[in-house]
Amino acid sequence: MLYGGARMSTQRRLIAEVVTALPGAFTAEELHRAVAERAPGVGLATIYRALCAMQAAGTLSHVGERGGSALLALCGRHDHHHHLVCTSCASVVGVECPLSDAAFAPAVKQGHLITSHQIALYGLCASCRTSEGA
Ligand SMILES: [Zn+2]
Ligand SMILES: [Zn+2]
Ligand SMILES: [Zn+2]
Repeated sequence: MLYGGARMSTQRRLIAEVVTALPGAFTAEELHRAVAERAPGVGLATIYRALCAMQAAGTLSHVGERGGSALLALCGRHDHHHHLVCTSCASVVGVECPLSDAAFAPAVKQGHLITSHQIALYGLCASCRTSEGA
């Protein structure tokens, strides 16, 4: 259940189906286009609300951005981690957090309090590297 067990409308069920069928990371606009192929009447506001519900349920993660829009992807992990997004095919893999307490130490020593951080990693996945000869 992508929405964390909440009651699902027909539109939300369709949006969940399309999200599950997408191969990797996507923007809300891309999801809207993919949903519109099956149900032209679903508005962008409905898409945004469904995405918010999935993020609140912890099934959907913010994994980066593309062209100023948030990139989202399904992720089953709930421990602290980050994501590596393929800029060619949009596949996503989880990566461990590269930051250690030592990285924060100078700021903490000056009295700063760090409450959260975000890291987005971009590159090419193994199969895109092979097909592009990079
Ligand atoms: Zn993840
Ligand atoms: Zn790729
Ligand atoms: Zn981290």
